[in-house]
Amino acid sequence: MSPLKKIPFIFSDNRWVVPNRELEGIRLTSLFDISLDDFSSYEHDQVIDQSAYGAHILLDMQKEVLEQEDYQLLSMREALAVLSFEEFQHLAKAWQYAIFLRTHRYCGQCGDAMQKVQWEMAMHCYTCGHRSYPRVSPCIIVSIRKDDKILLAQGVRHQRAGFFSTLAGFVESGESLEQAVHREVKEEVGIEVKNIEYFGSQAWPFPHSIMVGYLADYAGGDLVLDKKEILSADWFDIDALPKIPPKLSIAGLLIEETLKRIQQLE
Ligand SMILES: [Zn+2]
Repeated sequence: MSPLKKIPFIFSDNRWVVPNRELEGIRLTSLFDISLDDFSSYEHDQVIDQSAYGAHILLDMQKEVLEQEDYQLLSMREALAVLSFEEFQHLAKAWQYAIFLRTHRYCGQCGDAMQKVQWEMAMHCYTCGHRSYPRVSPCIIVSIRKDDKILLAQGVRHQRAGFFSTLAGFVESGESLEQAVHREVKEEVGIEVKNIEYFGSQAWPFPHSIMVGYLADYAGGDLVLDKKEILSADWFDIDALPKIPPKLSIAGLLIEETLKRIQQLE
């Protein structure tokens, strides 16, 4: 068997390095056009995954900002907009590993330097035996229906993009995913929900979340907004929707599914 082709995932500061060409044409296969000779001063023997593309190599320039006209730097959100769902998951994994290695150079228990474990993605402290694994932080995201209307909210962090989306929030320690759905909805918009149904999930490397998606129905209460998180929220008719997130995000897929269910009612 011939050795697997190397596919380099290169990060410079908090951006992804890709060949300098039209954004619309960027695919994972574009990475094969990167010359590893251009990056020979960095460690690049870390195989972090294998896929149909080949052996995934992580090459992290850390805080150094690449300045070379053959390449351009994309934010993870820009990458999300151009890659397919499956391609983005490979990128998300590489980026989350890079962040993990950057943030676990020293032991959180005794403060000594940590070493990379060779046979799994982990950092180990040989002084005290503490071992760390890449952090994954679960976040619930929920689309809520009330008869023939959908609840959409403009979060404080969505203000710049100008769109309305589903509600989302981090799961707290000791909480089940379903409890997190009830609590977040109550905290952010003041209502109760029922018929919580699992929909699907998406790795969300901003910086290390997994979005766990749910559909739910309105059960009671008036909209009372937590102004620290939510700028505005309302029940929308499906033919008078505000600007919503793209379908490739789980928020977009949840909204699409809710609209489909409302249409089936009519
Ligand atoms: Zn230690």
